Amino acid sequence: MAITMSTDILIVGAGPVGLYGAYCAGFRGLRTVLVDALPECGGQITALYPEKQIRDIAAVPGSRGREVVNALKAQADSFDTEYVLGREAVGLSFASDGRPQVTLSDDTVIDAGAVVVTAGIGTFTPRTLPAGEEFLDRGLSYFVPALDDYADNDVLVVGGGDSAVDWTLALAPIARSVTLVHRRGQFRAHAASVREMYDCGAQIITDAQVVALLGDERVREAHVRVDGEEQPRVHKVDAVVAALGFLSNLGPLAEWGMQLDRRTITVDTRMRTTLDRVYAAGDVTSYPGKVKLMSVGFGEVATAVNNAAVVLDPDLPLFPGHSTDHA
Ligand SMILES: Cc1cc2nc3c(=O)[nH]c(=O)nc-3n(C[C@H](O)[C@H](O)[C@H](O)COP(=O)(O)OP(=O)(O)OC[C@H]3O[C@@H](n4cnc5c(N)ncnc54)[C@H](O)[C@@H]3O)c2cc1C
Repeated sequence: MAITMSTDILIVGAGPVGLYGAYCAGFRGLRTVLVDALPECGGQITALYPEKQIRDIAAVPGSRGREVVNALKAQADSFDTEYVLGREAVGLSFASDGRPQVTLSDDTVIDAGAVVVTAGIGTFTPRTLPAGEEFLDRGLSYFVPALDDYADNDVLVVGGGDSAVDWTLALAPIARSVTLVHRRGQFRAHAASVREMYDCGAQIITDAQVVALLGDERVREAHVRVDGEEQPRVHKVDAVVAALGFLSNLGPLAEWGMQLDRRTITVDTRMRTTLDRVYAAGDVTSYPGKVKLMSVGFGEVATAVNNAAVVLDPDLPLFPGHSTDHA
């Protein structure tokens, strides 16, 4: 096997937890490589809710998803974190001295002292909108990367979950008009957000489905069939946001031989998986009492990295000291 990179800590998954793990590893003076299948850092935040307000991170009373990712990235960048983006970690083997070696989707092999898996819900792909998929990136999108792109647009949002309702709320003050189409009468989204949505000025159409998108080089019209009506309603649109959820898949990680609990990795109190030198943290882990919040993942990855550091050099203390000691 040709080794193409070597590092102390390899972190698989550049979501919020992996980014903070890179800071923790850098703080201990460990060389760190951070791999992600997506072309950008930030995991679920970047892919699904970059504009949403996050209010439950300690000492951050409120910040947009994108700002949280930028801050985490700046923290990781305060050391020499090396990013390998747009490549999936697919295979794991061990050298004769026990060092893990991870193969990426482009056949790069990374030799590491320890691996920390922060793969969240795995690699994820959006559920598609069957009517009009040909307009993807020509007005149809599955995420809202930047709200400003929708300024003065007539936007149609499709879906009934948190993302659809959140996008409707976020777009209403910016877009010329927002119409939300949901195929059921009830929304799965948070009840308070649904109440807010009904007051935000958006047109809400329930028990309805988008049956066709029409246009030229861009989408121009959406045809919406409402239960009980004979003819579809025709909506002039500049943009369609299909927030229909996503399919997540642990993919190749499930074959690495770690003990799994359904789609999560079983860890102990040191965040060790059942494989030597392989740790896990964040949404991907499970143990009794697990709470899936970023703030929990940040603590877990600090535990994972510091325990891995001691395995790499048993003379080192487990406690890394405080950042203020090193200022
Ligand atoms: C709509 C929504 C709103 C939310 N709001 C909040 C909130 O307000 N507060 C809060 O605390 N939490 C919130 N969450 C949950 C929060 O986003 C997650 O807890 C957090 O993203 C978990 O971070 P993570 O780094 O563990 O995983 P993720 O963010 O899922 O990142 C994992 C990364 O690993 C990568 N990956 C997976 N498998 C591989 C592989 N084999 N090779 C390479 N890369 C791989 C993925 O591409 C991804 O980038 C929300 C979630 C959603 C969907």
